Amino acid sequence: MKDKSDIGLVGLAVMGENLILNMESKGFTVTAFNRSYAKVEKFINGRAQGKNIRGAATIEAFVESLATPRKVMLMVKAGQAVDDFIEKLLPLLDKGDIIIDGGNSHFPDSNRRTEYLASKGIHFIGSGVSGGEEGALTGPSIMPGGAKAAWPFVKDIFQSISAKVANEQGEMVVPCCDWVGDAGAGHFVKMVHNGIEYGDMQLICEAYQLMKVVLGLSSDDIQKVFAHWNTTELDSYLIDITKDIFAYKDEDGEVLVEKILDTAGQKGTGKWTGVTALDLGVPLTLIADSVFARCISAKKDQRVQASKLISGPEINFTGDKQAFIEDLRQAVLAAKIVSYAQGYMLMREAAKEYGWDLNYGAIALMWRGGCIIRSGFLGKINEAYVRQPDLDNLLFAPYFKDTVSSAQQGWRNVVAVAVANGIAIPCLSSALTYFDGFRTARLPANLLQAQRDFFGAHTYERLDRPRGEFFHTNWTGRG
Ligand code: NAP
Repeated sequence: MKDKSDIGLVGLAVMGENLILNMESKGFTVTAFNRSYAKVEKFINGRAQGKNIRGAATIEAFVESLATPRKVMLMVKAGQAVDDFIEKLLPLLDKGDIIIDGGNSHFPDSNRRTEYLASKGIHFIGSGVSGGEEGALTGPSIMPGGAKAAWPFVKDIFQSISAKVANEQGEMVVPCCDWVGDAGAGHFVKMVHNGIEYGDMQLICEAYQLMKVVLGLSSDDIQKVFAHWNTTELDSYLIDITKDIFAYKDEDGEVLVEKILDTAGQKGTGKWTGVTALDLGVPLTLIADSVFARCISAKKDQRVQASKLISGPEINFTGDKQAFIEDLRQAVLAAKIVSYAQGYMLMREAAKEYGWDLNYGAIALMWRGGCIIRSGFLGKINEAYVRQPDLDNLLFAPYFKDTVSSAQQGWRNVVAVAVANGIAIPCLSSALTYFDGFRTARLPANLLQAQRDFFGAHTYERLDRPRGEFFHTNWTGRG
């Protein structure tokens, strides 16, 4: 083992342990530390045994064991625990040392920590890490941002342990990790990733509901549909695991997923994405609706009560089931494109607001492998931004414009059938509404402006006058 470790990692829960093992497997020596020492002992005597991993009993010994500039990665519960560890580390670190927060921290915290630590001469990196337990061990998607001066010191470690995707020659050598931008940019991009994940998952759930309730398909049939979709443009980790979920039988031979209570949990990153979109004035409708879909799912008792009190239309599907399944595939694809277009719009707005120089093509590549939203589709997004880095909206890129255009008839059929049959499809339908609003040159907001001017003298601009000239009307004629 080297005299000094290449990096130290604090936080021996699911993510921390697996990241350490991943780093060690790539030739790095790592020191492990945890608030409660029992976990260090268990790890060193268990999974880390015989490997280039040392355990530290105290934070002083932990810092002492690291090569300079010291690189300390925190993989602890997001929030106060991160600030507490920073305060414990500060007196022990030297100028130029690096603290990396790899947890799911909210980006304003990373903005604050970057500035605070810079004032102490310490480089801070706030890094999104996605891929869960398995990704952490075998190759996650890593989205680092913060003090760029620190990047050359951690680049080799991060890019070595990250997932890899194919280059143009088909060699799996492109790391799903690159520098994202200043301050909280890394955690911002991870937050948007999680929001998109919420949206992708909800779209799949809506497709399932329509297949089950409107078409009356069995779980086996639904499994086959998802297996087929995974061979098309929808090919992705989430469709792949969904097909496996429908194949999984409980002990009694019944499909397990049908026995699971229909109330979805959330840890808050989807909510942060929606709140940030509202703060920045970005119409991120699909992701916001996916968060609300989880909220309504959590109201199980009220829904059961309402289902007995309020009736809707009878299910009545008379069309061709196979054709509808293809429409559904087109609808999911089109809505997914809208979701990514909205997510990218949010990143562009945040880049303007916070002065970040985000590389949108590189972000698509970071999500291309290792993370929960990984899919072939992200390769197309990368291509679109490589071709046109200042692309205003993904829907303007030829591939996405053409794909949505040809998918829209099927998408409209699906939304119409769902509405006629009383099936809630918040994401499929709100994405279509966004799409129709986005492609409409004249919206009814002229009336809205008139209303605002009527009751609040908020003024309005006129179509027949230059922009920036404001008018007020005395709508009632009263003085
Ligand atoms: P976790 O359950 O979020 O956190 C457990 C770790 O945090 C333990 O090491 C625990 O120490 C430490 N901790 C908790 N409260 C603390 C406090 N007040 N002071 C000091 N240490 C404290 O662990 P995780 O699931 O491995 O996740 C780590 C981070 O990665 C989190 O930010 C999480 O959101 C993020 N993340 C998780 C996943 C995932 O799939 N799990 C995926 C991506 C990102 P003790 O052992 O002493 O309690």
